[in-house]
Order: sequence, then structure tokens, then C-alpha cells
Amino acid sequence: MKALKDRILQDGKCFDGGILKVDNFINHQMDPILMKSMAVEFVRRFASTRINKILTIEASGIAPAIMVGYLLELPVVFAKKKKPSTMENMLTTTVYSFTKDRNYDVCVSKDYLKEGDQVLFIDDFLANGNAAKGIIDLVNKAGAELVGMGFLIEKSFQHGGDELRNLGIHVESLAIIESLDDCKIILKD
Ligand code: 5GP
Repeated sequence: MKALKDRILQDGKCFDGGILKVDNFINHQMDPILMKSMAVEFVRRFASTRINKILTIEASGIAPAIMVGYLLELPVVFAKKKKPSTMENMLTTTVYSFTKDRNYDVCVSKDYLKEGDQVLFIDDFLANGNAAKGIIDLVNKAGAELVGMGFLIEKSFQHGGDELRNLGIHVESLAIIESLDDCKIILKD
């Protein structure tokens, strides 16, 4: 998606370890006009998919997910990174975060992710695919169906996207970064 790619080149900042910071328009300050355009693009790319629920993980996935949910008029559920003491009936999985180099638990209530749900997962970044695999586990535990996964930015050099596509999952990424070597942002055409 051209507008996103242009913005990454203009405002994205590269850090050691293959990390891209997009705090200027996605991860800290947010650009709602671009966010809306990205959601419109997801709606177009998943137009032939039957979806009844949008799922994301807090916190950075919530903004794009709610835009998609708004456009499709569907509920948006975010998996929580801390188990609330008051929440019963929970599904839980463990995810490794490579940006933080630690494991964390992700949970969602069985009240909001259920058998029969046709789930579109939306998140900001796809890197090694650990968060995505945690989501697959939660969706399976719920007896729901994962009908697609949409990412704003995929870093293809970390190969999570290959793994998900090899599993037969419909993956859409609006900008694909092929390399951040030497802190140069190389985008896929
Ligand atoms: P994965 O689980 O696919 O390895 O990593 C995805 C998660 O890690 C995303 O939800 C995102 O929050 C975070 N992440 C991975 N790579 C980057 C990056 O280069 N920049 C930022 N800002 N977050 C990232």
C-alpha cells in the first residue's frame, strides 16, 4: 500500500536487531487518516471472506482493528497481556516477544471468542510470527475458525509470514520490509 510505504520511508526509524520504530504514526502518535486508509485496504483485501469478529492483541493492534471493525460493523476483541483477576472462563496461551526478549501470557474470555466464530486477526507488525501463533492457539482452543490475518507491516526477513502462509492461512500485509540491514529500510515493491 503506497501511502503506508511512503510514510515508513519518511518517518520510520531503524534500530539494532531488525526493529523498525513507527512511533510517529502507529505505535505512539497515531495518524487516524492513514489508519482509516489502511483499514479500507484490509476490507478490500478480505472482501470475499466471511468474518463475524475482529481479533487483535493489546495494545498496538487495537487502533487498526477497531477501524476495520467499524467499517465492517463487527465486534472487535483484544486479547489481554495480563490475566485480569476478575475474568473467569479464560483461554490462555504463552507468546515469546522478541522485541522484549521474554515470554508473556495472552488471554481472552470464552464469552468473546467462541465456537463458530469466523475470526479476522489484525495486528501492527508481523516478525517471527510468535504473536500470530499464540492467536492461532487461542482460536483453536475456542473452537473458532481463523479466516485471515492482516498486518500493517510485515518484516519478511524474520519469516513469520512464510510460516503462516505455509499453514494455509490467508495473510495480508500492507507493507513488506525485506531488509533493515545497515539501518536501511528496503521495502518490497
Ligand atoms: P512476532 O510475534 O511476529 O515476532 O512479532 C510481532 C509483535 O512484536 C508485534 O505485535 C509488535 O508489537 C512487535 N514487533 C515485532 N517487530 C517489531 C518492530 O520492528 N517494530 C515494532 N514497533 N514492533 C515490533
